[in-house]
Amino acid sequence: MYSAPKHLVATITEKTDVHEGVKRFVLALSEPITFVHGQFVNLRFPGETRYHAFSIASSEASHENIELFIKQAHEFTTKLFASPVGTKLECLAPLGRFTDPSKMQGDVVMIAGGVGITPLLSLVRTVRDRDRHDRRYWLFYSCRTRSAIINEDELRALGEQNKSIRVVLTLTREQPSDWDGELGHIDETMLRKHLGDLTGKTFYMCGPNRLIDGMKDVLTTAGVPEERICTEGWG
Ligand SMILES: Cc1cc2nc3c(=O)[nH]c(=O)nc-3n(C[C@H](O)[C@H](O)[C@H](O)COP(=O)(O)OP(=O)(O)OC[C@H]3O[C@@H](n4cnc5c(N)ncnc54)[C@H](O)[C@@H]3O)c2cc1C
Repeated sequence: MYSAPKHLVATITEKTDVHEGVKRFVLALSEPITFVHGQFVNLRFPGETRYHAFSIASSEASHENIELFIKQAHEFTTKLFASPVGTKLECLAPLGRFTDPSKMQGDVVMIAGGVGITPLLSLVRTVRDRDRHDRRYWLFYSCRTRSAIINEDELRALGEQNKSIRVVLTLTREQPSDWDGELGHIDETMLRKHLGDLTGKTFYMCGPNRLIDGMKDVLTTAGVPEERICTEGWG
């Protein structure tokens, strides 16, 4: 199911602003790839030695074009943000096994913070596109403000139009007057309110280390075995 990574050329074909410090990129690949949701690509400018990892947000049904959501950090991402459409990058893809489907047991619970939504967006989009309604998929997604939510309309539609997908959005720094989601950080109370029992499920978490470490403690204390808790920290 996992294919060997290929050395490719990736051309920026779309670059749009999402939120302050976050952009959406679409890259056209020099050769089609077959990837599994949750995998990432390694990118660098020609002549550079060091690669930078970015999760693929697209569903597995995409082979020639991939969508990325990138938060500006330091040197590489600043250069990428300044690069025009048409820029060519060296790309090694696909990589990683974050949401390995062979390890899923019971319902799947995804917990994302900020731009950490990307590998989990790939998972829910794949459930939609491949009609994989074999279990229930919960996505808990926390952002500071409503404008920081990546693809709010799409996420809401995914939850409303797919019987197996439930999306819970939460804001930690503002309370818009028309907000019908949750407020505050994702915690045990919020998880239990929606999920009931926390055991018998597989958890995938991606986002700030603080969110991941806090949730890991909650889940292990609640009796979720460590092998059912899969995390991807970005440093
Ligand atoms: C598997 C995986 C998937 C990922 N997916 C995504 C994704 O989908 N979207 C996304 O936005 N990111 C993602 N990341 C994170 C992304 O790889 C990094 O943000 C990116 O490589 C940073 O590159 P940079 O050159 O801009 O920063 P770097 O220069 O590489 O800086 C990285 C770190 O170096 C230190 N540093 C360097 N310069 C300074 C400075 N001037 N001041 C202070 N500290 C400094 C900091 O600790 C900083 O966090 C992912 C990471 C991994 C491992």
